[in-house]
Amino acid sequence: MSDTLLVDEMFYSIQTEGVFAGRPAFFVRLHGCNLRCAFCDTMQDKEKAVKMTPKEITKKAKEIGRGDGLVVLTGGEPLLQNVKPLIDRFIKKGYYVQLETNGTVCQDDLPFGKGLYAVVSPKVKAVHPELIKHGYAFKYSIIKGMQDVNTGLPKGVWQDLKGNDRKKIMVSPVFCNHSVDTADNIAEAVAICKKFGYYLSVQYHKLIQGIK
Ligand code: SF4
Repeated sequence: MSDTLLVDEMFYSIQTEGVFAGRPAFFVRLHGCNLRCAFCDTMQDKEKAVKMTPKEITKKAKEIGRGDGLVVLTGGEPLLQNVKPLIDRFIKKGYYVQLETNGTVCQDDLPFGKGLYAVVSPKVKAVHPELIKHGYAFKYSIIKGMQDVNTGLPKGVWQDLKGNDRKKIMVSPVFCNHSVDTADNIAEAVAICKKFGYYLSVQYHKLIQGIK
């Protein structure tokens, strides 16, 4: 199977979400997703996506980043492409990789816990069993009024977290074009954290965008 990947964008910035928030990171955004979430903020333009090998991507990481530390592999849905050669190459070079996935698909022989950390963001009713087993954290998108009152997590979305209490459950308020809606979503996420003991994850890259 080819190890060439279709890449939407790469950049070096601060990881502002989830378990590694606050750390500088090299971001690789892979093209394509199997879901169509109404609140998706990812630009997907196949015309602008570029084919790259793992060697070219790690070379770019060294050119524009520190040459070590955190890599965030995101999308779209990165597990729709053959990501193992890239992940293995980054880990071999001393990086550690955060894989952002919607949890609907998985692949064989990924090095979970050995330099690879999966942050699963469930959006539908099912999550792949391997990701339930190996998910390092579970992150949920919060829109005001859409949560199950018993769990504080979105209705209609996988949340069978029994036995996963050692893992981090994070809630992330959805940022909207309308600031009032965003404020409502943040307020609901904060209330959910206080009630259920979850972690709050705020997409504060939306506040530091444009800062080089
Ligand atoms: S899973 Fe993520 S990338 Fe895919 S459509 Fe939903 S929000 Fe967008």
